[in-house]
Amino acid sequence: MHVVMIGGSDAGISAALRARELDPSAEVTVVLEDAYPNFSICGIPYYVSGEIPHWRNLAHRTVADLEAAGMRLRTDTTARRIDVPGRKLLISSADGGEEVLSYDKLIVGTGAVPVRPPVTGVAGHGALRPADGVHLLHSMGDTFAVMATLDQAAPASAVIVGAGYIGLEMADALTVRGLRVTQMEQLPEVLPTVDPQLGALVHGELAARGVEVLAGTNVQAITKAPPGQGGRLEVAATTADGSAVTRTADMVLVVVGVRPETTLAADAGATLGVKGAIAVDPGMRTSLPDIYAAGDCVITHHRLLGVTYLPLGTTAHKQGRIAGENALGGNRAFAGSLGTQVVKIFDQAAARTGLRDHEAAAAGFDPVTVESAADDHKAYYPGSHRITIRVTGDRTTGRLLGLQLSGHKNAGIAKRVDIAATAIFHGMTVDAVSDLDLSYTPPLGSPWDAIQMGTQAWTRATQRR
Ligand SMILES: Cc1cc2nc3c(=O)[nH]c(=O)nc-3n(C[C@H](O)[C@H](O)[C@H](O)COP(=O)(O)OP(=O)(O)OC[C@H]3O[C@@H](n4cnc5c(N)ncnc54)[C@H](O)[C@@H]3O)c2cc1C
Repeated sequence: MHVVMIGGSDAGISAALRARELDPSAEVTVVLEDAYPNFSICGIPYYVSGEIPHWRNLAHRTVADLEAAGMRLRTDTTARRIDVPGRKLLISSADGGEEVLSYDKLIVGTGAVPVRPPVTGVAGHGALRPADGVHLLHSMGDTFAVMATLDQAAPASAVIVGAGYIGLEMADALTVRGLRVTQMEQLPEVLPTVDPQLGALVHGELAARGVEVLAGTNVQAITKAPPGQGGRLEVAATTADGSAVTRTADMVLVVVGVRPETTLAADAGATLGVKGAIAVDPGMRTSLPDIYAAGDCVITHHRLLGVTYLPLGTTAHKQGRIAGENALGGNRAFAGSLGTQVVKIFDQAAARTGLRDHEAAAAGFDPVTVESAADDHKAYYPGSHRITIRVTGDRTTGRLLGLQLSGHKNAGIAKRVDIAATAIFHGMTVDAVSDLDLSYTPPLGSPWDAIQMGTQAWTRATQRR
């Protein structure tokens, strides 16, 4: 049995590890187009900030670890074409040499690529490059380019286009490095994956740390600035009321989301689904025989929405493991995502799981969202922090549909969103969260945990007892 994985990141390596774990005699080959298998790209902002001193520290496992697990790594190798009936994969190495690999099962983990928005200087003819100080950020290669700009051009200022979680983490990182940062976001508030009430808390933290936040600002062009402008690049944008705004900066980071990288699978005839991602069943099977796919290149089965596209590292790991198992004859199904995520920006953390009000309404629920605040631990014990909690439940059934929260990074935000994720996963009502036996000691919690205070506030507001 020869199993070939295309992609050496979360999905591809998880699949390879699982296949080898289940059958140590299986021949497993991982083909990846760069030289950085199993790197935690989620950690890139902390390497850029200097908190992680060396890029090698971002490796989940070393090449030696991976080889010791029994997989063969084909680094700097690009998969070019899949011959589906012949079960063959055409690959090419960096020097242009081509080779054909035969496979019994193929797992596509080609991931996602950053979106290049239709902004002058970013897309199309004459687009500026990393050497000019304009960067996208997804891979280790992108990271080295950012570090080269930081080391060689010694920028004093940066504009970050996009205030999703990666843009925000990078605003934190570049500020820590001593740059003056302006963040531009076309939506009305930063961190648009959570409700604006929580985005506003993150916005406040950015402002307190000296980041200039221009929300509701649509970037039109990035050009080279004339000499003497206080920065080598000029970013031209329009605010929500139509006024023009420009900023000069020494570097610009464009982080406005990703799209699934599906060229190879699509060319082979795989069916595509939501957002052009590869359609897979919950067992990670594509529409093509003997071909599985996992990670940011595939659609996401969601426990409340059915099918969506929600690229996350946690999901890529789980899907990859299932693809690896099923490629060896297993019959495991991905149980579905809830889009659970958490982010740290300076000293503030924000998290969400499940659905927000408008998402729940669009999915046919009857949602009510109630905001409340509670202490992370007993206020009489030093160092307590307020947590803002937004609970979304179904008015008709009382079912917990979503929970968002924000507070200090040491206020147990991740633990609490994970409790909510577990409750939603098991279909609990909002009211039943009060029955959970959660831990308590004054320096770390309260007899009613903050999350239970939040769900009780929802129950009071909707008069469910
Ligand atoms: C800065 C940053 C921070 C993040 N933080 C978080 C976080 O905190 N939490 C979280 O859950 N997620 C986070 N993510 C998202 C997470 O990293 C991705 O969801 C995850 O890495 C996806 O894994 P993947 O294996 O599907 O794809 P990718 O990581 O995109 O990897 C794709 C792989 O396929 C290879 N490849 C593509 N095409 C070919 C080809 N034709 N031939 C050979 N190889 C090919 C690439 O070289 C690469 O090895 C973050 C992402 C970034 C960029």
